[in-house]
Amino acid sequence: MNNTVIRQDTISKTFGFLVKNSFAFTVGVMGLVHVGLLIFMAYTGVLPLMFFNILSVVVYIFCFILCRFGLIMPAYVSIILEVTIYTVLSTYYIGLRCGTYCFLFSIVPIIIYFGSYLFKGNKRVSVAIMLVLNFAVFIAMYIRFGNTEPIYDIEPSARLFIVIYSSFTMVFSTVFYNAMYIYMSEHEVNILEEQNRQLSSDAHEDALTSLLNRRGFLPIVDSLMKSERTSTFSVAFCDIDNFKHINDTYGHEAGDEVLKQITLLIRKEMNGCDVCRWGGEEIVILMKGFELDEARDSMERLRKSIEVNPTFFFNNTIFVTITIGVAQNDGSFSGPEEVIKTADKRMYYGKQHGKNIVVYEDH
Ligand code: GH3
Ligand code: MG
Ligand code: MG
Repeated sequence: MNNTVIRQDTISKTFGFLVKNSFAFTVGVMGLVHVGLLIFMAYTGVLPLMFFNILSVVVYIFCFILCRFGLIMPAYVSIILEVTIYTVLSTYYIGLRCGTYCFLFSIVPIIIYFGSYLFKGNKRVSVAIMLVLNFAVFIAMYIRFGNTEPIYDIEPSARLFIVIYSSFTMVFSTVFYNAMYIYMSEHEVNILEEQNRQLSSDAHEDALTSLLNRRGFLPIVDSLMKSERTSTFSVAFCDIDNFKHINDTYGHEAGDEVLKQITLLIRKEMNGCDVCRWGGEEIVILMKGFELDEARDSMERLRKSIEVNPTFFFNNTIFVTITIGVAQNDGSFSGPEEVIKTADKRMYYGKQHGKNIVVYEDH
């Protein structure tokens, strides 16, 4: 439950970040497009559109400020209105032949891309309505201006320029927002995959020490016993001595540090063995192929290593010892729990007889 919430939170934060920045980018580019148009209209002498371009640049500066404050919705609406009005006006002044209706199509990907983020669930119908209106404006313009002479008849070379300019914005917009959409989808998949990996390792690993937990460990012993009932292996049940006292004296964080230090020493001494954090300060080691005496000698080395290697925590040097019970699989155990229980009983005997020892037989 918690993980699901965190996962959704990460995704929506990432999406929010991308959308916010790509929106600022969009507004910036659209402002620049209008600067270009402003120069063009001044050059060709289409003064009404030149003045409208000045107004458009002001609108985009305002939209840029809005989206820096995270107010994407009002900026989104302003963009759509501005482009629609500009397209109608420019078609009215310089005619359909100049192709400025491409601006209307260039905002289709923008309507969809940002609309899918701004409108959720049933509200997404707003996006569909905007697309229908966008198309309706184009048809209405075609009917109204298709056969009428424009107010300004600009020369063919300038007309070619404006056709290329406006159709390029349409192509660029289509490519850019599709690429963004693909990137965001892939990004989301990557986040989910990473979190899935995390969840599955969480299920089999202890978070503090990264040792296996019981769920990860028991199937390993189980499959070993199932493959061959009499397969040679030993297990060690280790329990830190007076660990409560360590916590009480140095604090819980120091206790955690001790657990990590012991984990490091076990990994070093028992390289290649499967190690499990069985419970709080209990660790179980699986020694494949180890006869009892070999396991006992290894555990004796480990015990001594832990005894002489303290944990350094801030200004404290913390010495700890462990008590270990060892048992070998002799084929008489019915399952992993039973052989581990035998080792646990021997460890318990050690606790009652001075601690800091390795016990490898029943008493
Ligand atoms: P004994 O020598 O008999 O094993 O004594 P002990 O104090 O080690 O055993 P006891 O069972 O009385 O206390 C175990 C302590 O381990 C209590 C608990 O607070 C502590 N502990 C368990 N898990 C953690 C952990 O993840 N971090 C820390 N810091 N302490 C833990
Ligand atoms: Mg204990
Ligand atoms: Mg203990």
